[in-house]
Amino acid sequence: MNWICAYCGSSETESSAYRDAIDDFAMELCERDLGLVYGGARGGTLGALADAVLDGSGDVVGIIPESIFEREQPHEGLTELIITETKDERKAYMAERADGFVAFPGGLGTHEEIFETLGRAKHGFHEDPCGFLNVAGYYDHLVAHLDNAEREGFLSASQRELVLVEETPAALLAAFEARASSAAGRCRPSQ
Ligand code: AMP
Repeated sequence: MNWICAYCGSSETESSAYRDAIDDFAMELCERDLGLVYGGARGGTLGALADAVLDGSGDVVGIIPESIFEREQPHEGLTELIITETKDERKAYMAERADGFVAFPGGLGTHEEIFETLGRAKHGFHEDPCGFLNVAGYYDHLVAHLDNAEREGFLSASQRELVLVEETPAALLAAFEARASSAAGRCRPSQ
């Protein structure tokens, strides 16, 4: 794994738990020599995450659609900024650039992005690890919902296993590394 894509709320947050998670995640990425791929905005929780990685001398690629420039300014201090025409094009670039996908606490945009990525994994379009950073129990209800979907037969056990959930960046990135090496092991030709 070289690049981790973070989906993350575009609004500001007052909660110190989320701010701390951003700093921890940025530190873990830099220590593991992993770059960040994200939505490219300057503000919000997204922008704070990019700043934290840049402060740790990490690489950050931002991918932002031109159509949201009126609402959101692109971050100008990134390692690389890719401007796309559409939101769908942005998601395609993110999928191409990253080797793992994390949902931080966020809103509709964050949910859309992570579930689309999980949907592509379900259909076999990629084997990159995907998961939720469950900061301060933010995703507890979603985890309960997914467990219920499995109980009710709408999610198979193997599909449920695609969804990694951890409370700390270190645990989530360790789970990603384990998942990525088991996928690489399966692809290795038999001797
Ligand atoms: P939300 O969770 O609804 O705040 O949406 C945030 C997610 O959607 C991020 O991961 C971004 O990739 C994307 N996104 C939505 N709104 C914006 C915005 N104004 N600027 C940059 N990215 C955004």
